[in-house]
Amino acid sequence: MDPVGVAAAPPRAEAGPGPAWPSKCPWGAPKAAPMSCSLADVMSEQLAKELQLEEESAAFPEAAAVAEGPFITGENIDTSSDLMLAQMLQMEFDREYDAQLRREEKKFNGDSKVSISFENYRKVHPFDSDSSEDEVDWQDTRHDPYRADKPTITPKKGFIGKGKDITTKHDEVVCGRKNTARMENFAPEFQVGDGIGMDLKLSNQVFNALKQHAYSEERRSARLHEKKEHSTAEKAVDPKTRLLLYKMVNSGMLETITGCISTGKESVVFHAYGGKYVHYFTNEEDKIIPPECAIKVFKTTLNEFKNRDKYIKDDYRFKDRFSKLNPRKIIRMWAEKEMHNLTRMQNAGIPCPQVVILKKHVLVMSFIGQDQAPAPKLKDVKLSSEDMKKAYYQVLNMMQQLYKECNLVHADLSEYNMLWHEGKVVWLIDVSQSVEPTHPHGLEFLFRDCRNVSQFFQKGGVTEALNERELFNAVSNLNITADNEVDFQAEIEALEKMNEDHVQKHGKKVSMFPSDGDPPSCGE
Ligand code: ADP
Ligand code: MN
Repeated sequence: MDPVGVAAAPPRAEAGPGPAWPSKCPWGAPKAAPMSCSLADVMSEQLAKELQLEEESAAFPEAAAVAEGPFITGENIDTSSDLMLAQMLQMEFDREYDAQLRREEKKFNGDSKVSISFENYRKVHPFDSDSSEDEVDWQDTRHDPYRADKPTITPKKGFIGKGKDITTKHDEVVCGRKNTARMENFAPEFQVGDGIGMDLKLSNQVFNALKQHAYSEERRSARLHEKKEHSTAEKAVDPKTRLLLYKMVNSGMLETITGCISTGKESVVFHAYGGKYVHYFTNEEDKIIPPECAIKVFKTTLNEFKNRDKYIKDDYRFKDRFSKLNPRKIIRMWAEKEMHNLTRMQNAGIPCPQVVILKKHVLVMSFIGQDQAPAPKLKDVKLSSEDMKKAYYQVLNMMQQLYKECNLVHADLSEYNMLWHEGKVVWLIDVSQSVEPTHPHGLEFLFRDCRNVSQFFQKGGVTEALNERELFNAVSNLNITADNEVDFQAEIEALEKMNEDHVQKHGKKVSMFPSDGDPPSCGE
């Protein structure tokens, strides 16, 4: 190749959009053939709504029935393929959106040497992207519109020019300019000032130092970003769940999901600021979303749930469905169960989170706490003896209400699942495993609850606190007279057995235990 020729007319592929081709669009020439679906269509709000609607009605038939909560019936079809389709559409949409954003970014920045990045407004984060396409785009085109002229290319043999005009690749001026231009390859966040646009000549030494710094900054920011990703969406949140959460924000129901409050074996709880629930058809707000919400995501990894089968398998409310369900649906049932139990408690006036919405294995409820700080668990809060006593009586009352008015036994009641809110009221949470007292193990669960509560308050210095057996009788009105734990437990089991036999004989469950009134009908 003729070096002079190269120097005089650099190959087109190498050249940036300088004055040489002012009309050349860095995005390539617009195609003459019209696309089957134009960008305008894809970007149209109307279409987005329609797609969302279609997808919602296909993927979340239960969402419509949340308020009263008839259990999901057999018609509840497996929509996993619809979901995949929806996901693909959504991603397509997001990608188009990002493309548009890039165009806007370019237009906004124009030829200005100082640019403003729209990166944070992108829908598809490179981490989420299922193809590397975005990343390639990201690096290659980002600065295209205002790329400074490339320095003269020095061919492989190391010099250009002829005779006394020869310049080698080591020429100080050429090198300096080249170094300056190369600064633009640093991460976009890396501040290099106006150097690129000026006739600034960086020595190799300075350039290398800058390069080192730029790279370590890049790695650091990648690490930070990764951490941020992980702190919010990671752990139990698989892509499908993320999509669900994403939709909640996208639809405006939630304003932002701020982060993770708790990661348990069976669930992850997030905090979110509530938005507006807008009815798809009427476009009207038809539900008040609490200003702060807790999002409980039931883990879809099944291992942890295996030992919980007994809570749900023997619950007559779920009995017919249990055997037919696949594990994924069983997880959803936990979420559903929590929703129904919370609704019962809410109706009885027991302080507990209010259900906002249930979607698959994701339950959104009101947040107990303030400004992202959840109310402390009883186990974590140091109460004065007076408050401790107040808390005890509240808990006693709630247990009785739960049993009598809600026809429920908490089944995981302890200082871990009671929150001390606003310095005065005990709130009950975590009721996915709660069962009716007629559950084959319901009374055993109740006894365990009583033991936890009794021990906690007795240790906490509440002298009035009933012991576990007294508490059990006070809650259930069953007058079990055994004065030691072993006999007491034997009597409980005998009662459960009697009830089971009764159920076997007469089909449906009966409330054979004395209670002050009929349990509320919950439409099940
Ligand atoms: P797990 O089954 O993991 O114990 P929980 O329902 O107990 O699930 O939630 C775990 C933690 O998340 C709770 O201990 C509490 O700190 C927090 N949390 C759950 N629900 C709420 C809520 N509605 N408001 C505030 N914090 C909550
Ligand atoms: Mn809990």
